[in-house]
Formats: sequence, structure tokens, C-alpha cells
Amino acid sequence: MKFIADGMLGKLTRWLRMLGQDVMYSNQFDDAELLAMAEKEHRILLTRDSELYQRATAKGVGAFYVEGRTESEKLAELAERFDFPLTIDLERSRCPKCNAKIRLTPKETLADKVEKNTFIYYNEFWKCSKCGHIYWQGAHWEGIRATLEEAKKIKGSQLNFI
Ligand SMILES: [Zn+2]
Repeated sequence: MKFIADGMLGKLTRWLRMLGQDVMYSNQFDDAELLAMAEKEHRILLTRDSELYQRATAKGVGAFYVEGRTESEKLAELAERFDFPLTIDLERSRCPKCNAKIRLTPKETLADKVEKNTFIYYNEFWKCSKCGHIYWQGAHWEGIRATLEEAKKIKGSQLNFI
């Protein structure tokens, strides 16, 4: 799925990219640019701005009005509407910073690129093909899993009302 997110959705953008979704984002885009790019690249506009949402739908541009308060709620809404799994598969993940694909990278090439302790404790490292940022499933990963588990529960409970 291809999305473009408005300037208020930077955090959500990083989550969606980790989940493998292609999300264009810049907090520099104005409304006209967001609409033009959504239309040109057939991206669904994600927005928390009801006026912008209405402008998009009036123009026939695919748009989704993001309502959730927490990241878990937002992710649950989006996964429900666009039918993607709330599971991170790093083979499909995109770089949270720049949206390019990340690749599993041989550990030995990274000895001077990550902190010594990180290098000792972890074995799988992923590198962005564009910006070069390096990722691993470190201590923060528990928090990531917890947010996704919460999102799955919310998604499941919404289904009960249908
Ligand atoms: Zn990157």
C-alpha cells in the first residue's frame, strides 16, 4: 500500500514504514502539495485535518481520516481499513527515517559502525539502502512489540461490533 502522510503524522509514518508500508512524508509539504502528490503517485492521503480530508475526497483523491489518540489506536484503524498485518517482518520493512528498503547486512562489515556492546550482543543488523542507518532488535524492541500487541487487541475488539 502506498500512502502520503500529513505533517502531523510523523510518528505514525515511522510505524507504518517499519510494518513495510510505503509512506511519503515531509513536514514541509503544504496541503496543495500533499493533494498533488497523492494524486500523481496514487498514494492514499493520511490526515488528521478534516478540511484537508474533505478537499481530497472532493477531488477524488483517496484519503483516510486518522482518528485514533494513541499510536496503537491509529495502527489498528489503518490495519483494519487497509488490511495489512500488525507484525513487523524486517524483510519487508522500510527505513523509518527515509522510506527506502532495509537489508540484512553482514555483521562483520559493521564493526566500526555500531557501539562495541551492541556489536557484541546482537547478531542481526539491517541497513538502509539509501540513508545507511543501521537497525537491530535491541532493548527498545519490547516496547515496539507491546504497542503492536495493543493495536492487535484494539483491532480485534472493533471486529466484534460489526
Ligand atoms: Zn533510510
